[in-house]
Amino acid sequence: MKLIFEESAAGRHTEYLPEPDIPAVEPDFRPRQKKLRLPELSEVQVDRHYTALAKETRGVNGGFYPLGSCTMKYNPPVNEAAAALPGFASVHPLQPDETVQGCLEVMRQTEAYLAEITGMDAISLQPAAGAHGEFTGLLLIKAYHRAKGDAGRTKILVPDSAHGTNPASAAMAGFEVVNIPSDADGYVDLEELKKAAGPDTAGLMLTNPNTVGLFDPNIEAITRTVHEAGGLNYYDGANLNAIMGIVRPGDMGFDVVHLNLHKTFATPHGGGGPGSGPVGCKAFLRGFLPGIRVEENGGLLRRGEAAARIGDVRSFGSNFGVVVKALAYLLSIGREGVPRTAANAVLNANYLMNRLKGLYPMAFDATCMHEFVMTLEPLKQEIGVSAMDVAKALLDYGIHPPTMYFPLIVHEALMVEPTETETRETLDAAAEAFRAILEDARRDPEQMHGRPLTTRIRRPDEVKAARKPVVRYDFGD
Ligand SMILES: *Cc1c(COP(=O)(O)O)cnc(C)c1O
Repeated sequence: MKLIFEESAAGRHTEYLPEPDIPAVEPDFRPRQKKLRLPELSEVQVDRHYTALAKETRGVNGGFYPLGSCTMKYNPPVNEAAAALPGFASVHPLQPDETVQGCLEVMRQTEAYLAEITGMDAISLQPAAGAHGEFTGLLLIKAYHRAKGDAGRTKILVPDSAHGTNPASAAMAGFEVVNIPSDADGYVDLEELKKAAGPDTAGLMLTNPNTVGLFDPNIEAITRTVHEAGGLNYYDGANLNAIMGIVRPGDMGFDVVHLNLHKTFATPHGGGGPGSGPVGCKAFLRGFLPGIRVEENGGLLRRGEAAARIGDVRSFGSNFGVVVKALAYLLSIGREGVPRTAANAVLNANYLMNRLKGLYPMAFDATCMHEFVMTLEPLKQEIGVSAMDVAKALLDYGIHPPTMYFPLIVHEALMVEPTETETRETLDAAAEAFRAILEDARRDPEQMHGRPLTTRIRRPDEVKAARKPVVRYDFGD
């Protein structure tokens, strides 16, 4: 396929608009010394070029996309229409409160629903991403200890099955990270936790379900241990689609939680945003929350700020369009839809896991939540076929590869998250693809290193592609 610059021919263009009938004004400031070299193409050429590019892309619209941990869940386009309504899309955050009553009501309602779903008392919609929410939540924990005059609590306990952003956020927030190992079943090692928790513990950060897709059965013992040591409990709720409407972090002993609206609540994930990582907390932390507090005052909704707030973590109240989509989604699935979504996410993951169990070894033998992890280590030892080889071969079956080599605590990991929206037929077809790949691998292990066979680009140097992407056209002069 040619690059758009290679398709360019001098003088070729599309013209719809007449020349302006007002005189052109020469700006005083003219930093550009040379004429801008844009590709020159006809309209049809441009259309075909980008349509061809789009067809080369594997997306959730094109087929099964079981990317564990961070997958695209359900993002119906109808929510985009809601977010694009002029009353939402054309307002300015500096408008007076009286002129944005609908927007403030959207924020207030979304906060109320998210508080109810998480079992928290207050929510800040300000953080713009999951990791940003973690950072914010940790600053709440820090502010709490500081307000009590307890300066010695400098450590955050992070189980090794936590999402990678957890230790990074704790370090960013100025804490020392203490790694808590998992036991053989993939759960937090309670004895190790008890040993680590003490007077220097600021809190615990727990990803639940953890990154191997398991719900920790000792969750209450875990949060109790940390509370008894004087620390607070932080819940990474990015993948709340596994539990929402069934259990609530607030009821399990957690004090702070973040959610990823751009995973569980109907905004597409990936591609760089915009996202939203609201933070919820118990009442005793409410006064530290960043962002705006919407309160009713004299029949009008007004924007205020929490008393002892930690400060703003970004401009204005939220990535508002994402909040509108989350509310539209919640209203469309309704009270019954919230637990049904979780039930289907868990059912789909367990169905596929059980179809694959006899073929691929699972990292942990337990009922999974919204995702499961297999290990290709035995196959690699036996015939040299790796998790990467199997993941790449899935592309030949029209399936986007699952998450590879994550979590780090499982060797040759493939992490599969089907999501709540897939049909049984899709899951069966995926199981069949996994089976056929294994058969291919056993028949001829060597050819597996050359898969996929059906894509234009087959095995790029992934490190180089990520670290040194070529995004600038070289005119050669
Ligand atoms: C995706 C994810 C995050 C990070 O969210 P970002 O919006 O990418 O910063 C944190 N924790 C878990 C469990 C996640 O899946």
